[in-house]
Formats: sequence, C-alpha cells, structure tokens
Amino acid sequence: MKYAKRMEKVKASAIRSSQKKIAAKVANGGSVISFAAGLPDPNLYPMEELKDATMKVFEKNGKEAVAYGLSKGDNRLLKLLAKRMQEKENMDVDAENLLVVTGSQQGIAFSAMIFLDKDDIVIAENPSYLGAINAFRPYEPQFLGVDTDEDGIVVEHLDKILSENPNVKMIYVIPSFQNPSGKTWTTERRKAFMEVVNKYDDIVVIEDNPYGEIRFKGEPTPTLKSLDTKGNVVYLGSMSKVLTPGLRVAWVVADKEVVDKMELIKEGADLQCNQFAQNQVAEYLENYDLDAHIEEIRAAYKNRCELMMKTIKEYFPEGVKYTDPDGGMFIWVELPEGIDANEMLDDAIEAGVAYVSGEFFYANEGKKNTIRLNYTTMSEEQIVEGIKILAKVIENKMK
Ligand code: PMP
Repeated sequence: MKYAKRMEKVKASAIRSSQKKIAAKVANGGSVISFAAGLPDPNLYPMEELKDATMKVFEKNGKEAVAYGLSKGDNRLLKLLAKRMQEKENMDVDAENLLVVTGSQQGIAFSAMIFLDKDDIVIAENPSYLGAINAFRPYEPQFLGVDTDEDGIVVEHLDKILSENPNVKMIYVIPSFQNPSGKTWTTERRKAFMEVVNKYDDIVVIEDNPYGEIRFKGEPTPTLKSLDTKGNVVYLGSMSKVLTPGLRVAWVVADKEVVDKMELIKEGADLQCNQFAQNQVAEYLENYDLDAHIEEIRAAYKNRCELMMKTIKEYFPEGVKYTDPDGGMFIWVELPEGIDANEMLDDAIEAGVAYVSGEFFYANEGKKNTIRLNYTTMSEEQIVEGIKILAKVIENKMK
C-alpha cells in the first residue's frame, strides 16, 4: 500500500510492546506482576449505581437516548458538566464553553486538527503523555521539550524557548499528577506559567487534566483554565479515571470560538459522542454523588501509592531516584546514568515484573535510564512482591 507521508511519523506505542513481551512470558506458563498499565482499577467502578442509572435512562429517556444527538453533546450533560467546572474548578464558564468528546484523547486529537500546521512548534513537558505526542505527530509539528523540577514546569526554561522560537503554536501540559512522572505543579508555578504565556497572543495552552481530582495528599491547586484571563487555555476533563474509561465521556472547556471550531471537526470525525453513554453519565451525576465516589478512589490509590513508596524506599538500591506523587496513578523512577531501562525490561519480565520504559515518553530523544510505574491495578501483595523483584533486577544491572 502507498500510505500517506504522515504515517511515517506515527509510531507503535511502547506500552503495547511491553504488553507483547508480558503476553509471551504468560503464554509460556510464567507470571508477571505488571506495573506497566495506565488503567484505573476496575474494582472501583460504581457498577450498581451505573446499572441503576442505565435502567433510569431506558425508563425516562427511551428512544431519545439511542437516537442521533447534537455534535456538541447532550444538553443535560453539558449543563451538568458546566456546573461541575464552575463549582469544583472555579471556572467562569457555562454550557456554551463546553463540548463533549469521545475521551480526552479525542480532545487532544481535535486540538491538533484545529491548531497545528506542518512545522508549527508544540512544547510539551519532558517527559509527557505518549498518547498526546502520537496524536500530534500526523500533523507534522516539531516538538520542543521543556524541563520540569519538583515544583512543576521550569518557567524560566519555557520563557527562554518562547523568546527564541517565534513558531511556537501550542503548549501541551498535564499540570496535575502527570502521566508519566506523577508530578504536580505548585500554585506559584501555575501563576508564573500563565504570566509567561500571557505575554503572547497566539499561543494556545492545552491543559490535559484527567487525574486532577485524584489528589490524596497536599493542598489543592487551581487549574490553569481558572487562572486564564485571555482565553488562551483549552481544558480537557474526563470521566475515565473518576467513573469508568469505557463510556468514553470527556469534555473540552474553551472559549466559545474554539468550541465552535471543534464542533465542526466533530461533525466530520464521528458526528457526535455515544448518546446512550452521555445519558448514563448525566443520570449518574443527577442521582449519585460522584465526589463521594472519588473519595473512595483516592483512599484506595493513596494506600497503594504509599505501600509502593515504602517498599521502594526499603528495597531500591542507593543511587536510584523517584518521584513521590500527591495523587494520580504513577511514580517515575530514574536509574543511575548508563542503565538502559528498555534493555533491562527483558530481565525484569523474565524475573516476573513489568514496567514501561521512560524513554518513550519523550517527544524527542528520551532519557534511557527512566521507568514509569503504575500502582493502581495491582493488589497490595503484588505491589510489595513486584517492587522487591524489580529492586533485585536493578541491583544486578548496577553491578
Ligand atoms: N491524557 C492523559 C494524560 C492520559 O493519561 C490519558 C489516558 N491514559 C488520556 C489523556 C486519555 O484519556 P481518555 O480516556 O479520557 O481518552
């Protein structure tokens, strides 16, 4: 086949390649404790409530719930989400500023479609969410990575990049409990970031926030969108990590002009989101307490994260660095310089533990000595056992 040139830029996901290795090991009768996933724990889905909400959708909305709907999203859901954004995230927005999308992944893809031309520069944190980088690639932008430290994005570095590169069109960031690093920007950093961005008129900020509500430690921080006075920020929210990912219900919050453009693109992409799923989420939000449910998720992930951190501190050899997340689903590990985490993955899977190599989370050249660990899907026993095995694998590699 003669594929479009843009396909040369699209790469297979590294997560898939580690999944293949795990599957091969399991097929040969082995077992693997996997910290490679990026998934919420299915045991925490509110199944009974969703079942009840689903029955209510059939009883109350009948045919309307399975008919075609509006490209912008179901009106009832848009209003409920707008209210949530006003009350929870302190955003000065209403339903006209929202668009329902098929996962925040579609919000990322649509952002690329409406903003990016070939060779425009996209700035992303170093490292960043692989799924976003891959969604941007078909539009053939150039990527520039900006450094982060324990307080978040290094604003001086960003300022320097912006002053030296007039072609910057977009800044894609995950300020809360980042995938993959688990880092969260402080309030001061968020304000300083907005000050720098506000110096420019034509730079759009994509604030991807699927983990923001899963804070289990520390003080809440404002979203960039709530600090946005010029309409530069396009915010992406999602039900995937707080309710269930398979309903694929997420939303974009932006200036009406941006929402209108995305609505046009949505018509061409898939006409509308799944009408039934939107009804299910709306019914759930009206009848149940999503915040109480999020509390349960927080408590469960807090336990698992603390257990993983404790075991890491106890067993990982001297010279290995790691983040200590206040929420979300990931810990980022930096091995001593010279160790290739991707090469080490074969040894790890052989020993019975898996992770994702960090180098794949960089838009350009990545740090080979890095690892992403997920703590949300394994049991407490598996967390302890898996980290002990990984510590041994690292120790052997360091010899
Ligand atoms: N953004 C980030 C940072 C993510 O980690 C993910 C999912 N892993 C997504 C977006 C996509 O989420 P959704 O299910 O809402 O499409």
